[in-house]
Amino acid sequence: MQEKIDILKKWIEESNNIVFFGGAGVSTESGIPDFRSVDGLYHLSYDYPPETILSHRFFNNHTKEFYEFYRNKMLYSDAKPNTTHTKLAELELSGKLKGVITQNIDGLHQLAGSKKVLELHGSVLRNFCMKCNKFYDAGYVLKQKEVPICECGGIIKPDVVLYEESLNEPVMSEAIHLIEEADILIVAGTSLSVYPAAGLIRYYKGNKLVLINKTVTTYDKEADILIQAKLGDVFVQL
Ligand code: ZN
Repeated sequence: MQEKIDILKKWIEESNNIVFFGGAGVSTESGIPDFRSVDGLYHLSYDYPPETILSHRFFNNHTKEFYEFYRNKMLYSDAKPNTTHTKLAELELSGKLKGVITQNIDGLHQLAGSKKVLELHGSVLRNFCMKCNKFYDAGYVLKQKEVPICECGGIIKPDVVLYEESLNEPVMSEAIHLIEEADILIVAGTSLSVYPAAGLIRYYKGNKLVLINKTVTTYDKEADILIQAKLGDVFVQL
């Protein structure tokens, strides 16, 4: 592994056009569970499976139950950025990293200081009234007993892409653009098995595709550097 990290360090030294694409594995070291991992949310016992609860239809029809689950399992207001978040923010500050594309909704990249963050699935830190569009922060949603209601009487919805909902198009096109132009693409903490992750990698045209993940991914064979390890153990060395 050390040899691979040394090559990666050299590539990073020589580049000012790095793009990072991350999944749930980036935040697990901050104590936020991975949805699809073996010990993740999918194995929790609830009346409905999480994919059902976190769907557009369920939000509309069972808003109260949605929020019970959401408050308990999706909001981690005490979570702090970890080594990976911090290192990425440093790389951006030094002009090497062009941006972070994330599937996470926890806002930890911004908390670490990253400026250019493309959130494919939105963020729990933004919530809007469905009637008047007024903004509410996560704290407001957290302290409401049942369904968070706006001062106008409208229901508040998190700015999170639920199942059955389409991704934010401008965010997607910007992500594609960053990847197309990237010199080094670092993909980490995702098994790349779920849309849109797998599709996005296809836009990379370079020859420095770096995959860092604890487990096997569907793109392992195409990686120019493949590191199977905990992200923190790798990023602390970069
Ligand atoms: Zn309102």
